[in-house]
Amino acid sequence: MQGHEYGFRYVDVHSHAHEYSPEELEAILASAPLHIVIVSDDLETSRRTLDYWRRFRGRVTPCLGVHPWSVKSREAVEEARKTVELALENGVQCLGEVGLDTKFVGETIELQRSVFQVFLEAARDHNLILNLHTAGTWEEVLSLLERYDIGYANFHWYTGPLHLIPRIADHGYTISINPAIRIQKKHQNVVANAPLEIMLTESDAPYEYKGIKMSPTLVREVVEHIARIKGLDAGHVAETIRSTFEKKWLKR
Ligand SMILES: [Zn+2]
Repeated sequence: MQGHEYGFRYVDVHSHAHEYSPEELEAILASAPLHIVIVSDDLETSRRTLDYWRRFRGRVTPCLGVHPWSVKSREAVEEARKTVELALENGVQCLGEVGLDTKFVGETIELQRSVFQVFLEAARDHNLILNLHTAGTWEEVLSLLERYDIGYANFHWYTGPLHLIPRIADHGYTISINPAIRIQKKHQNVVANAPLEIMLTESDAPYEYKGIKMSPTLVREVVEHIARIKGLDAGHVAETIRSTFEKKWLKR
């Protein structure tokens, strides 16, 4: 991926930063040596993500996609195709936020599967990264990645079954750890049981979870939580995560 000449120490691999104003995003990027992956929710926010990629070149990485929560009718399939086209035209190497959700929006699961298929085929044919939403569908999504022979994908805010973690690791896929780690037991358990080498950090900003206002500036705290749970030095954790991100995302 071109344009990552800015040094960074922390990485947020899943942030809806298109929801910020340019001034807000500028201030966040100025506050810490941080690289932010911006995920999109639909075609419109994908365009805004592209705009921010141009504005903040080298400091953010774009992912274009149609979020499972944005899938409301058959038209979403066509919207997914257009989003893929937009990504390919612009040399974007990541599709997200994409995936399947039976936990919060199970009533649209059949439509979601049709939409996700568009993204899976594009990722397979063009070697694109998938930035994944997998609430309640961890195993189904992992099996689809295997069936489509997807090269690399990140499971955002992983709270899935622990027994899938070795399979995720075997494929070289990653899971990202969210500021919810402060209070969410299931997420703390994932960190205790997964190898550091498959972990990345994220914020899912500006989402709010049980009183935690997600922000990319919280990834430093996430690193500290991971270090504490695993009994490791925070500097070592930060550097391992930075290096995993560089390998999987920037130098592919
Ligand atoms: Zn998200």
